Amino acid sequence: MADTVRLTIDGQEVTVPAGSTLLQAAQAAGREVPTLCYHEALTPPGLCRLCVVEVDGARTLQAACVTEARDGAVVHTRSPRVERARRTTLAMLASATNLDEAPQLQAYLQDYAADPAAFGPVARREYPLIDDNPMYVRDYSQCVLCWRCVQACATDAQYVFALTFAGRGFHTRISTAYGVSMPESPCVFCGQCVAVCPTGALKPRRTFLLEQGYTPEQLAHYAAVDHDAVHPPATHYAGQV
Ligand code: SF4
Repeated sequence: MADTVRLTIDGQEVTVPAGSTLLQAAQAAGREVPTLCYHEALTPPGLCRLCVVEVDGARTLQAACVTEARDGAVVHTRSPRVERARRTTLAMLASATNLDEAPQLQAYLQDYAADPAAFGPVARREYPLIDDNPMYVRDYSQCVLCWRCVQACATDAQYVFALTFAGRGFHTRISTAYGVSMPESPCVFCGQCVAVCPTGALKPRRTFLLEQGYTPEQLAHYAAVDHDAVHPPATHYAGQV
């Protein structure tokens, strides 16, 4: 088997190591393909479909982050069909999620002229902010369900399995098992979920408190800043459907 494959990306021939993905091939050709669930340190889950590209001869659009580059393939990263698919995905994301703290997604929305109201009135998934531990806060109203935090918490990094999906359909959310608080879960507060979150859904508690108006001097007594002083008592999702 050859060590490399040669394919055409947007009219440009490119040679990449065998086993490369279409995303890697596109990057080698200098093409920008938008991504969301993909993170270079994690196993690509192929969930968000933002990175779809068109491959000549393929019936459906292919998720570039999980599709292997084949010798002789002819790939289009920004065809009208690709643009339509990305615009639809972005519009649906923005209609259901608060993306105010996701600058990369905001840039994609502009780039693809995605309208959050394209399919009817905006209907956001609203959840109360969860402040149940000293290390980080969780605002799942800003969560795009990319799965990155779950992967970092599981077999891609920490192997503690504190996070998973819960709920169904529109009400799908990230949660601990049975919705217990973080201190009650297997979480070891490594912070890797926070590091890979592409939106403001997971945030260091210190950052959150600074945004709330606390000064660095006040945070010198950080441990004394308890939940009830900041906002109503912490909540979790136990029992919510
Ligand atoms: S909390 Fe962040 S990393 Fe986790 S699924 Fe939501 S957006 Fe992705």
